[in-house]
Amino acid sequence: MIPDRLKFLVDPRGVPAQLAGLFADADRSLYLVGGSVRDAFLGRPTEDLDFTTDARPDEIRKIIGKWADSVHEVGAAFGTIAAIKDSVAVEVTTFRDEIYRDDSRKPHVSFSDSVETDLSRRDFTINSVAVHLPDVTVVDPFGGLSDLGLQILKTPMDPEISFSDDPLRMLRLFRFQATLGFTPADETLDAVRRLSNRLEIVSAERIRDELSKLLLAPEPGPALDAMVGSGLASHFLPELPALAMEQDPDHRHKDVLAHTFAVVDKASPDLTLRLAALMHDIGKPATKEIGPGGVSFHHHEVVGARMARKRLRALKYPKSVVDDVSDLVYLHLRPHTLKMGWTDSAVRRYVRDAGDLLDRLNELVRCDVTTANPRRERAIQRRIDELEERIEILAEQEELSRLRPPVDGNEVMDLLGIDPGPKVGEIMDILLEKRINDGPYSKEEAFEIATEWAAEQGL
Ligand code: ATP
Ligand code: MG
Repeated sequence: MIPDRLKFLVDPRGVPAQLAGLFADADRSLYLVGGSVRDAFLGRPTEDLDFTTDARPDEIRKIIGKWADSVHEVGAAFGTIAAIKDSVAVEVTTFRDEIYRDDSRKPHVSFSDSVETDLSRRDFTINSVAVHLPDVTVVDPFGGLSDLGLQILKTPMDPEISFSDDPLRMLRLFRFQATLGFTPADETLDAVRRLSNRLEIVSAERIRDELSKLLLAPEPGPALDAMVGSGLASHFLPELPALAMEQDPDHRHKDVLAHTFAVVDKASPDLTLRLAALMHDIGKPATKEIGPGGVSFHHHEVVGARMARKRLRALKYPKSVVDDVSDLVYLHLRPHTLKMGWTDSAVRRYVRDAGDLLDRLNELVRCDVTTANPRRERAIQRRIDELEERIEILAEQEELSRLRPPVDGNEVMDLLGIDPGPKVGEIMDILLEKRINDGPYSKEEAFEIATEWAAEQGL
């Protein structure tokens, strides 16, 4: 009896059955494996299909070469050949024995002839189940299906050995805790506590990719909390554990770290927004001051923006992500500094400074409200509602996002008879400032201002 959720494996027109036929003809075995099996049993959609086989990479290439629409080498050195067939992405990997990563960044791989050995080297039991094709026989030497049922994360073999072999697995533990909502087994978590410093040999890119997946889970908070608690976060994101001790009077009953997790959970799963939520208060420890009025964190958004930039660069995030997250952190207090109500010029400036980040910034500001006082919560949310209404009204009147003065640089140069250079930038800035402060004005007025300015400058 084939469970309903695995029936797609025997559909003769489907990619798995076709592939199974090719490997059987070549007298090689083929298994669906890893995340594909886990997701199939969980009834979750899988984007790509992972297979494992006793065929070596050259032979895999030969077997699937004619059949696939395209074949590419993702990691022949790791034994993996990737292909696309009927818009389905498949990866076929030779059974592996050892993958050492401990003393160098380049892993060393050796191949095996046994599927059990391959499964024993995988990260968690729930990812260590294979399904032989075409007959759909389950190979589950480490109790992965039972752990799937119990929603538990543990390594197939001794966690100390597993995490020493590849310390990235410790981060994957929290990634799967977040994305699947499963619980790490006690002995697994203990091993992370003991071995967290081993993460230092893992490349920033691999860490980044797992962190990003973790942050895109429905509710990353509990996994982030466990990750900080285990000591792992301090090896690649030390700004986070540093928040644990900071009591913020604005969010009573919570330290800044717990507040941060709550903000991350509330934000929609967009990488830039979630990273900004994670980092929005990291400037607090460095700016904390205790004065007569209590605790303050003056300019923590400025310090935090700088810290976020530095950290995200170290984690090798693309420049656009670094810039956007840093800008969001920098701007996240703006609506609060304008408690007295919004003038038109303040709204224009906010929209201009936020640029493409406007929607994310508004959401971040809303999510940042985690007060336990419902009256206060309503008051702040109302203020943001009001801001958004004002933006809409002004945006209808003026094309806010494309604010510019009524004349361009060429016209000003013609008028004043000057050449391109810093002086042109200076007068254009003045004209833009006026546009932001006073709203639309005429070309004639712009020319008057420019002429006056030129006279003052002695041009
Ligand atoms: P996703 O849904 O993110 O693709 P996945 O489980 O498929 O989840 P991958 O990173 O695509 O994760 O890896 C595929 C499979 O390879 C895993 O299910 C696991 O069996 C194995 N694997 C991946 N990374 C490691 C690792 N660092 N150590 C051991 N096994 C790993
Ligand atoms: Mg995968």
